[in-house]
Amino acid sequence: MSLSLYVHIPFCLKRCVYCDFVSGIYDSGKAVDYVTTLKKEIRGITNAKPLSTLYIGGGTPTALSTDILSGLIDNIFNHFRFIDNYEATIEANPGTVDSDKLKIIRSAGINRISIGVQSFNDAELSFLGRIHTRDEAEQAVYLSREAGFKNVGIDLIYGLPGQSIERWKKTLKEALSLRPEHISAYELTAEKGTTLDKMLKITSGANNLKPLDEDKIIDMYNHTIDHLTSSGYIHYEISNFATPGHSCKHNLNYWDRKEYRGTGTGAHSFMEDKRFYNTAGLDHYIEAVSENRSPVEEHENISADRAFSEAIFLGLRKTGGINIESLSRRYNINILSRYNHEIEYLREAGLIEITCSGYSYETNLKLTKKGLILSNEVFARFI
Ligand code: SF4
Repeated sequence: MSLSLYVHIPFCLKRCVYCDFVSGIYDSGKAVDYVTTLKKEIRGITNAKPLSTLYIGGGTPTALSTDILSGLIDNIFNHFRFIDNYEATIEANPGTVDSDKLKIIRSAGINRISIGVQSFNDAELSFLGRIHTRDEAEQAVYLSREAGFKNVGIDLIYGLPGQSIERWKKTLKEALSLRPEHISAYELTAEKGTTLDKMLKITSGANNLKPLDEDKIIDMYNHTIDHLTSSGYIHYEISNFATPGHSCKHNLNYWDRKEYRGTGTGAHSFMEDKRFYNTAGLDHYIEAVSENRSPVEEHENISADRAFSEAIFLGLRKTGGINIESLSRRYNINILSRYNHEIEYLREAGLIEITCSGYSYETNLKLTKKGLILSNEVFARFI
């Protein structure tokens, strides 16, 4: 048995307009205090199973200085044992990396990099509030290769106000020309309270800043699937594509509803059917851990019914869907009886299908192409 570890770095050089993550503006003094505290929280994890995956996310982990960041990574690798074929990812913003930083991160043991490119169009990057240009994004991929990363992921966003399908196709084509092992393509959403949400409300109609039509967004999504799958990528989750053998193991762990431990501000953990939520307040977090108190401010026991429904809607995110027999065995509930009406309704609506996998005669429940687009409607039926 092994464990997945998430480490949160809540600093960015600038706030992107669409961001609703737990993150504030980078301050070098605060960053030193935070990482010192984070190392203490990590050292406090005792008797842990060996790590199969590590994910250092944010925020912008690469906003930290090379010294601070490598000290943190060393601390993690000294404290935990790792299984042989571990996956250790760091999220990187192209505006915060250079050759030295990437080489040091790689030699410290991080073997996967997820680069927040978002677009290869400078006007779009500027609209999104990103701190980097398209050239810097491309350079970050080259530098990552040069530093020895053999598993490089690129994150992209589509569906910007006013974006044409041609512009999105161009971004996708440029991403493909860099041959990353992994591509995540997310639809831009204006989460409540974000700058983007306010921009769309305030300027609606005044300067043509309107959310993109749903039809165009669907065209972009369908094009993404067709283009990436015909270019050798496996579409393994609603928004994620990978070359064979490069699906993100850490995220698959979440979708398979396996245990993970989260550290840092706002991080969640899921252990023994309980969820724990660390405080999102930076000062509060530093104060609690420094005074040897737990940074967990809330925990939740998950009932058997809730666990089963979570396993369904998380598992359905994977394009392979869920294996009906093993899910029913794991939770001791027969999904076809428990959700008989919902499954019939969704099948008739063309949103899910039951397929037979290989020669084993085992059956999977999965989203159809239409269901991938309307996945939230499907998930709501199982909540
Ligand atoms: S870089 Fe990422 S975490 Fe930071 S503000 Fe932008 S979207 Fe948010």
